[in-house]
Amino acid sequence: MSAVPLATSFLQDQSFLDVLYIIAFGLFIQGLRGLSGPTTAVRGNRIAAVGMTIAVIATLLNVNEGNWGLIVLGVALGTAVGVPAARQVKMTAMPQMVALFNGVGGGAVFLIAWAEFRRDGSTYGSHTVNLGGPLGGLSAHVGGVSTYVAAFSVFAAIVGSVSFWGSNIAFGKLQEILPGRPISLGSAQQIVNLVLLILALAAGVDLVAGAHSELVFIGMLVCAALLGNAVVLPIGGADMPVVISMLNAFTGLSAAATGIALDNTALIVAGMIVGASGSILTNLMAVAMNRSIPSIIAGGFGGGGAVEGASGAGEHAGTVRSTSAADAAIQLAYANRVVIVPGYGMAVAQAQHAVHELTKALEKRQVEVSYAIHPVAGRMPGHMNVLLAEADVPYDQLKEMDDANPEFARTDVSLVIGANDVTNPAAKNTPSSPIYGMPILEVADSKSVIVIKRSMNPGFAGIENELYYDPKTTMLFGDAKSAVSEITAELANI
Ligand code: NDP
Repeated sequence: MSAVPLATSFLQDQSFLDVLYIIAFGLFIQGLRGLSGPTTAVRGNRIAAVGMTIAVIATLLNVNEGNWGLIVLGVALGTAVGVPAARQVKMTAMPQMVALFNGVGGGAVFLIAWAEFRRDGSTYGSHTVNLGGPLGGLSAHVGGVSTYVAAFSVFAAIVGSVSFWGSNIAFGKLQEILPGRPISLGSAQQIVNLVLLILALAAGVDLVAGAHSELVFIGMLVCAALLGNAVVLPIGGADMPVVISMLNAFTGLSAAATGIALDNTALIVAGMIVGASGSILTNLMAVAMNRSIPSIIAGGFGGGGAVEGASGAGEHAGTVRSTSAADAAIQLAYANRVVIVPGYGMAVAQAQHAVHELTKALEKRQVEVSYAIHPVAGRMPGHMNVLLAEADVPYDQLKEMDDANPEFARTDVSLVIGANDVTNPAAKNTPSSPIYGMPILEVADSKSVIVIKRSMNPGFAGIENELYYDPKTTMLFGDAKSAVSEITAELANI
């Protein structure tokens, strides 16, 4: 035997491929560990990318891989679209990017399940015997498909389709192609959702039992697609990142199910990692908003416009005091302790570098400065941390909400920069408010508050902020970046 076939057969040996997969899983887990902190995140991302490259190579080495022309075309298309899109996306548009990429994952899963059905669907229901393999029934293609494998394939198709369509709606809402407000059928919505779910499941059971009908399969995909739309359309824009995280978990689970159906260990492990981390993130975000996941799915919150039960802008009886950059600079210069509260407006204005310059100017005057970070400030988890890290703000100056709140009482000035909902006292004081119960940064406890924003317009939840009428509060109207730079310039004259 010549050296080349020997080397080829070694590379394609299942034990060698298993070793490659195990190395890839180790790298995924190590990469995820790195993502837990901003200083190690970039490295973690690179480690996970190396792991994914190894997993892809191992999969391609598999002798059963199909059409190389199509594989190369797919990789080239994916790279041509994905790389420039990921490089050019603005931080503020990251949630919709994640929604889109997540949707593509769900779409791939349901298309694979469909292709598998076209190849093996005629044997569904006829092989209930366990064909062996580590999880039972996995060497399915030898003599047909076991019920076990067929069930996972059908599960992947339903969940992948829900995730694909749901993610597209989430993308549309965040990109403002669709209205951010809840779009629902009112009290009939839950019944419609239940009927769609039952129909999709019934079609799935029929297929696994041996229906052998592509029409039933397509009908199942259509019901799942309608369900994906029907579940996400009634959810308001403000809850969308939570929904994306939940759909991300769904995509992970459907990918894991596809891994079982295809007997691909890498897909099972990667899918389960995505499913588990997506579920944990969904739960953390829901807790940070003090909302249960069923209540988010029930919808109706955070339309981006005026919300029923909340007073609209301009209806408030109190008066608003505006200030100038010069006065704000004096107030800050003579403070002992200043807490900066960044929000979505700081991200939109790309004011993070200007904010860091202001911090340095205040520190030169011996003012103690820290940042209070709300877990859902901005439009995605960790949004503020990422932006401030980009501007080289030392990480130890960033205080999580639970650590920051007790400190406001001994704070001279809270400088709120483009943050709104996350400072709204209605979350504590107004039971009829749609954000009632959401934990907030309690800036109203500080001795004075300066709010930088462009107008009296509401934030993402679409409700008015009582903080702006508090006698302790002054408003500095303007774009966050210019206003902060003006304050820094005025400080030099004091
Ligand atoms: P908000 O959306 O409540 O408020 C942002 C404010 O920034 C607006 O009121 C706007 O007022 C102001 N603004 C916009 N552009 C500028 C600019 N160029 N310069 C100055 N100000 C500007 O943001 P928060 O960060 O306070 O709250 C985040 C919201 O997003 C919450 O409702 C949260 O629940 C939601 N959300 C966040 C998630 C996350 O993971 N981070 C997930 C899901 C939801 P004006 O137009 O007057 O300038």
